[in-house]
Amino acid sequence: MINAKEYDVLVLGSGEGGKYIAWSLAKQGLQVAVIERKYVGGSCPNIACLPTKNIIHSAKVASYFWRSEEFGLTKDNVKINMSVVRDRKRKMVDELINVHLDKYEKSDVELIMGSGRFVGPKTIEVSLTDGGTKLLRGKKIMISTGSRSSVLHIPGLLEASPLTHIEALELDYIPEHFLVLGGGYIGLELAQAMRRFGSRVTIVERDDRLVQQEDQDVSDELQKLLQNEGINILTNMNINRIEGKSGKWVKIHGMQNGSQIVLEGTDLLVAIGRTPNTQDIGLDLAGVEITDKGYIKVNERLETTAPDIWAVGDCAGSPKFTHVAFDDFRIVKDNMMGGHRVTTGRLVPFCMFTDPELARVGLNESEAKAQKIPYRLAKMPMKNVLRTRTFSETRGFMKALIDTKSDAILGFTVLGVGAGEIIAPVQVAMIAGLPYTTLRDVIFSHPTLSEGLTPLFSTVPPLEK
Ligand SMILES: Cc1cc2nc3c(=O)[nH]c(=O)nc-3n(C[C@H](O)[C@H](O)[C@H](O)COP(=O)(O)OP(=O)(O)OC[C@H]3O[C@@H](n4cnc5c(N)ncnc54)[C@H](O)[C@@H]3O)c2cc1C
Repeated sequence: MINAKEYDVLVLGSGEGGKYIAWSLAKQGLQVAVIERKYVGGSCPNIACLPTKNIIHSAKVASYFWRSEEFGLTKDNVKINMSVVRDRKRKMVDELINVHLDKYEKSDVELIMGSGRFVGPKTIEVSLTDGGTKLLRGKKIMISTGSRSSVLHIPGLLEASPLTHIEALELDYIPEHFLVLGGGYIGLELAQAMRRFGSRVTIVERDDRLVQQEDQDVSDELQKLLQNEGINILTNMNINRIEGKSGKWVKIHGMQNGSQIVLEGTDLLVAIGRTPNTQDIGLDLAGVEITDKGYIKVNERLETTAPDIWAVGDCAGSPKFTHVAFDDFRIVKDNMMGGHRVTTGRLVPFCMFTDPELARVGLNESEAKAQKIPYRLAKMPMKNVLRTRTFSETRGFMKALIDTKSDAILGFTVLGVGAGEIIAPVQVAMIAGLPYTTLRDVIFSHPTLSEGLTPLFSTVPPLEK
């Protein structure tokens, strides 16, 4: 192909994996360009992890106001101004974009704003944001195009113009009745935030419980604590059709356990899963195959079916977390340099940022049972961690699964305040192959949340002789 500008490395999509590979290879003297159609730095700083946590934090502050008497504060005239809430988030996002632009400026990576698609092997045409097109060719290419909100084929859903997380994070009013389709982490985080801002909230879930991939006791406790905050939860709901327009008036018609249900609300959020951004980008022209579910086919080295083309993050079917996309970058970087690093055997933690948080690393009980892995169980309510009492946030529990033939930790789940931080030392112990007794016997500072690991691991049943 003629007139294509040549690069050592081209990166399609500036998300977590893409940007780090670009910055790091440019440092080694390679000529690198990143193509990004909208979000400099990818979803995480613009429309996903960080802005949701920013809004959730404002909602947490609001929740303290509703409980203010408990903390000895007077609550007269509390008003929530959603445009100020939104502006705090927008300010943070702008600052993060500037941090990224500054890094690009200093890194010698060429950031090309526009939408890219393959037009041949290792060749990408960019429809530039400012108009016109550009043809680029890379000796090596990394695809990092991420994912977007899935939309169900329910009659009336598209016509209702539902919110996704992107629009929900931009609301400058408090929805009167916020209807949430989906009981996964995006739906739950935003449902709780809106409730705390003052919306009436209903969560509609197709399965028989929230966060079905977690153990039953986790789903039950989570459901209980959300209901205690006044959130209405309908599980086992099959939606037949939807009427109205989000932002004004919406009606959901469905069936629950054989009975007809009609729900009326004002705003509708769809949070029912993610679809990889792999359509309409000419992957077939580049020899890059996709799976039945639309993810880019990669091996454990994150190589695609085309030579010298790699894929990372959500579009490659990796667990959909920013920290995983970052680890994908480390794998590809090493492999591009002739190393051999793989995705298999990674210990991937997660944290859902409801309040209190839900976090897990390693196996839960359902997985251990399904895999026929025997375990010893230690479970303890969060109220036994004295630090939680200082916060007046004693809800939830923590539990650990320990091997029956050794003292190895198989998995650890916390539903409780600071869960995301509490799992970190346990994750490190698991990676280091330390027995649970090491954590049991550590001298943790008092009063901290990690200190709870001592009483928890003290209750592990003894090894059978
Ligand atoms: C609401 C929400 C909250 C989340 N919270 C968390 C959290 O707390 N913790 C966590 O670990 N994960 C969280 N995630 C998941 C996390 O955001 C993703 O897993 C992560 O961003 C994936 O990174 P990525 O690089 O694969 O894709 P992305 O970050 O999505 O980057 C892909 C980039 O490619 C660009 N692009 C796509 N197609 C093209 C094209 N043809 N041409 C040019 N550019 C293109 C997109 O504009 C985008 O900027 C959250 C996700 C959502 C939606």
